[in-house]
Amino acid sequence: MKTLSTLEPLTTRLLEIQRINSAASLLSWDQETYMPTGGGEARAEQIAVLQGIAHQKLVSPDVQSLLSQWVDPATGLAADTTGDTWDEPSRSLLREIWRDFSRAKKLPSEFVVKLSRECSLAQQVWAEAREHNTFSMFLPNLRIVLDLKREEAQYLGYHDSPYNALLDVYEPGATIAGLQPVFATLKARLVPLLRRITESRVQIDDSILHHSYDHARQLEFGRLVLTAMGYDFGRGRLDLSAHPFTTSFHPTDVRVTTRVHEHELQSCLFSCIHEGGHGLYDQGLDQRYFGTPLGDSVSLGIHESQSRLWENCVGRSRPFWRFFYPMLRQTFHDQLHGVEIEQFYATINRVIPSLIRVEADELTYNLHIMLRFEIEQDLIEGKTQPDDLPVIWNRKMEDYLGIVPPTDTEGVLQDVHWSCGSFGYFPTYTLGNLYSVQFFEQATLEMPHLEDEIAAGQLMGLRRWLEQKIHRWGRMFTPAHLAERVTGSGLSPEPFLKYVERKYGELYQL
Ligand code: ZN
Repeated sequence: MKTLSTLEPLTTRLLEIQRINSAASLLSWDQETYMPTGGGEARAEQIAVLQGIAHQKLVSPDVQSLLSQWVDPATGLAADTTGDTWDEPSRSLLREIWRDFSRAKKLPSEFVVKLSRECSLAQQVWAEAREHNTFSMFLPNLRIVLDLKREEAQYLGYHDSPYNALLDVYEPGATIAGLQPVFATLKARLVPLLRRITESRVQIDDSILHHSYDHARQLEFGRLVLTAMGYDFGRGRLDLSAHPFTTSFHPTDVRVTTRVHEHELQSCLFSCIHEGGHGLYDQGLDQRYFGTPLGDSVSLGIHESQSRLWENCVGRSRPFWRFFYPMLRQTFHDQLHGVEIEQFYATINRVIPSLIRVEADELTYNLHIMLRFEIEQDLIEGKTQPDDLPVIWNRKMEDYLGIVPPTDTEGVLQDVHWSCGSFGYFPTYTLGNLYSVQFFEQATLEMPHLEDEIAAGQLMGLRRWLEQKIHRWGRMFTPAHLAERVTGSGLSPEPFLKYVERKYGELYQL
């Protein structure tokens, strides 16, 4: 039996590439947190150079000749020689390295550098356009990035639609054909549910969330919740950024960010819990495999399932607040004095069609994603021209959510994704929502006392379960296979739909 040690000449090279990527990620983290705005162009060049080097090293003749001894290029799977087979970790490792290698090999190095540079620049122009509420400022850069992404899909190759090539980058195995029925089911049940909620006689007033809340105390509370979740500050940090995110350079250095708005208590609180869920995943990866696919997270959809599980299934639940609400009320005594836990629970679960995706409740959130999924698919397939985006965006907002953004900043310009070339990324948010409920239900089945533990502020049992079932496996299994191993069934919108129908049916007395 051949084991991982046979693959050492290959994994040593991958480790070096990962260290270059970690350095590039650190530069990106700095760009979003502490870099002076003037440093933007120089930073774009620095990151592009590192990404170019990492790409060249991955597609080098060395790596190619090592891989060609061990992988059958026709199937992309480990090749067995008579009488000598590979053990399971080695098979997974070879499958995943081949996936990364063959994809990288299809992209010319100059193209990778050009894409990286154009995306960094487009991101900066997007931020300005968003600030000035002027879509036309961003349009020329968007056209460049879009053309490059379509070119990328051509290099990568695809079945049915070039968009499938881009989807697969973020969620291996995902296709339009697989996702469309899922979105259709969600739309068929969520749109009528939303209508019943907006017409319900129960109206939730969330004005208590908009009192004045001290900046430092909000952050302090966020740190407290992160610590309770088991996020290790000895191997992590919490900083501020315009858009909360998580980045990892190694399982021993995983950083999360948040933002604090004086008049929006929910913003810092839930972004800490959300990013904490991402952070736990990255801290829970197996250090022994760092630098190889077995030490890497499996997909964005599964990653998002971890953040949404903590944010929604835990952080917007009654048991969680039974423990944490008394502490929150103590921290913000003046603002929350006289506000009972039930009232607080209702305000943090208020459903209302809103303009901004990142502020959407867990029910309408998927409608925001559906709109982006349809638009970006048409953009990549050339059925929609970038010039028409604001009009199309507003029309779909009206159709799905019944509201129209008064400005592009609150509409088509709100998300950073398209400026960084992340076409195909959005659907993973909905996959994360669906998987989060599937995983949480399984955890509840396997840990009958989970609810009591959460209500006692003991979150480590859940954290350990997630680490054992999901985090530590890295890319050993494909995302669909991992989900099946954990829950016994594949991706399904049904558990999520039942969960929201039950939760909001009760809250809004439907
Ligand atoms: Zn997330």
